[in-house]
Formats: sequence, structure tokens, C-alpha cells
Amino acid sequence: MRIAHDGGGWGGGSEGGPPSPPEPEPDLEKRPLGPALRRGLHGLCPACGEGAMFEGHLKVVPACEVCGEELFHHRADDLPPYLTILVVGHVVVAALLFVERTLYLDPLTEAALFLPGTALFAIWVLKPIKGAVVGLQWALRMHGFGRRRTTEASPPPAVGEDAP
Ligand SMILES: [Zn+2]
Repeated sequence: MRIAHDGGGWGGGSEGGPPSPPEPEPDLEKRPLGPALRRGLHGLCPACGEGAMFEGHLKVVPACEVCGEELFHHRADDLPPYLTILVVGHVVVAALLFVERTLYLDPLTEAALFLPGTALFAIWVLKPIKGAVVGLQWALRMHGFGRRRTTEASPPPAVGEDAP
């Protein structure tokens, strides 16, 4: 005789459905948000504030070379570009309106000033914004930041527990 739906479905929870994100370990100490954001804005490791967060312009280092804090857990994704557009858009539109109302430049001159200026401004602010987002995720223990370092994630086996 075959038993249908044994242990699966709503009660089981181990099969089916999307995988849930990893829960932060409850016994980890709280991380200060303000210093982490500030260090991230300056492109520094959110944990120690000394090591560089980036290699190149926007690539986050796998781990801090000073304190060893793992930074590859970040999932900044589209948030830094979104925030960059938000910031740059408000600044550039305000500047463009100011120039329109006061300097009366011809449209070609405005375009020659504002098109490269907007691009350079966006490139300039994207890096500190991404640093702050990584610092935020680190401080809030989001994604893989909620676990211990992979180097210390496996505690030694307890006494009396046989290893396979
Ligand atoms: Zn560090």
C-alpha cells in the first residue's frame, strides 16, 4: 500500500517552494550602522575602516586585506545605480533649471556642458553610494553577512561525537 503526501506539502516545509534566505545567527553581536555607512562611503572596509573595499572602480574585493572580513557576501545589485540616478537627477535638473533661468546659454552649449558633466558626476557618485550600500548590508547582516566567516563557520566537533 502506498501512502500519498506523507511529510510533504504544507506541513513538511522541506520540499517545494522557493528556498528561503539564510537566517542570521542569533548570537552574533550587533554591528554599528553609522560607522559602516561612513566607511563604505569612503571606499573602506566596513569592519575595520582601514582596508580598501574596492579593487578597480566598482569591483568589491572578496575579503578585506587588513582584517580579513569577507565582503563577497554583498548583493548591492541595482540599488547603487538606482540611488545614483536619484541623486544625480535631482542635482542636474536643479542645475539645469538654474542655468536656464540665469545664464541663458544656447541649447548646444548647455548640451556640451551637461551631457558629459552628468555622466562624470554619475560615475563619481556611484562608487561611494555602492560602498555605503555594501556597508549597510554588512551592518544589518544581510545575505551572507548574517553568518560567521566561512573560515570560522565550522566549529570543531564536540567531544564524544564521532566523525563519519
Ligand atoms: Zn577590514
